[in-house]
Amino acid sequence: MTYPPLPGPCAVRATSNPFGPAFSGDRLPRAAVSRSLVGVSHTVDLPPEPAVPSVPFDRGGFDRAASVLAHLPELIEIRRDLHMHPELGRQEVRTTALLKARLEQAGLEPRAVPGGTGLICDIVPEGSPAGAPITAFRADIDALPIDDAKPASVPYRSTVPGQAHACGHDVHTSVLVGLALVLVDAMAAGALPGPVRLLFQPAEEVMPGGALDLIAAGALEGVGRIYAVHCDPKVEVGRIGLKVGAITSACDRLLLTLNGPGGHTARPHLTTDLVTAIAKMAVDLPAVLGRRMDPRWGVSLVWGRIASGSAVNAIPQHAELEGTVRCLELAGWRETPGALEELVAQIAETHRAKWVLDYHRGVPPVVNEGESVQLVAEAMERNLGPDRVESTEQSLGGEDFSWYLEQVPGALARLGVRPVGDTTSRDLHQGAFDVAEDAIGVGVGLFAELALGGTA
Ligand SMILES: [Zn+2]
Ligand SMILES: [Zn+2]
Repeated sequence: MTYPPLPGPCAVRATSNPFGPAFSGDRLPRAAVSRSLVGVSHTVDLPPEPAVPSVPFDRGGFDRAASVLAHLPELIEIRRDLHMHPELGRQEVRTTALLKARLEQAGLEPRAVPGGTGLICDIVPEGSPAGAPITAFRADIDALPIDDAKPASVPYRSTVPGQAHACGHDVHTSVLVGLALVLVDAMAAGALPGPVRLLFQPAEEVMPGGALDLIAAGALEGVGRIYAVHCDPKVEVGRIGLKVGAITSACDRLLLTLNGPGGHTARPHLTTDLVTAIAKMAVDLPAVLGRRMDPRWGVSLVWGRIASGSAVNAIPQHAELEGTVRCLELAGWRETPGALEELVAQIAETHRAKWVLDYHRGVPPVVNEGESVQLVAEAMERNLGPDRVESTEQSLGGEDFSWYLEQVPGALARLGVRPVGDTTSRDLHQGAFDVAEDAIGVGVGLFAELALGGTA
């Protein structure tokens, strides 16, 4: 496979002033800003200047886009550094140290998460009234236990065998650092309207996820709304995907164990026929569950393992059945464990079997709240102009951002990372996964709009 040319950052760095003399701290014309954030380095025709003259670009004396652009080269360097040094869930020691140092350098005071990795960082403007609702933003910081399959010629390829940022969490992290730096600029200009909390969350890729650690550490106290982005290689850079309601799915796992006295196959009436009992469970539980749950919830129980017995003429004392429950809707996720327990008890009683049901919660679906989705769409329009938002499908993957949305309203947006015009199919969790790094600027601009509001 030939690797596509690197996008944006090289161009940004190679030409100290890609926009001409205006780019030296002065305000940029809107067209230049938009183009720079969505692909100035791609040799692809960009659409004409976004038609957003009705939206004042420079609000309250603070030029958001110029601030984003000023920090973008450093953010891309941070992304590449993280990409070269991936760390698995709850082992993100170097990553946490790097983030802490940069945030402190910016004058912020991040606090450590119990457990040692991850940070919570509040940015509160002077004079902010006590109890003002906090707007929170979350980035996950962990990598995956897979090899980086990019060619050796890619300079920021993972240096750690068997570990790679193949889910784009390095991008999410860089976006959140960018938000911090832009908000520090905004605060200096008196343009930060309310308190903001940044959540650098460890361990999204493992179960239980790090979201629960952060919530236990008080991450949601005082939070009125929470936002996150996740890289989406199906969406072109400069665009985002949004959906009201469930945007990811739930996945739980369960182990059902049956026990009985065992005995001779000649005398099943004197014991508990566990093989028949476990077989009945395997067939009836998915079938009956499918009639107890609303079909629109998309609850799917599928077995992966069944085990019992060792001799042709001996009734065993022990039987096991293991599988997963996937679910599209929160209501189904909430009701499934109780319904299953009830059914297991009924079938076990019929067969006089003792039973233990180990039901392990994975994650609920991420359920985007309607008003938050609307706010994201509006912020995206202010950031880059109209027609930047596309509707997206619900993924069957899991994402522990859902735990936050169980408690406060918010939204997860799919951040387009596919290079403009690129037709290469690269999915998340593939070793060759990579992004158009201009997406970092798009993410920071989006978050900054959400934090700073429509009118400053
Ligand atoms: Zn992932
Ligand atoms: Zn991910």
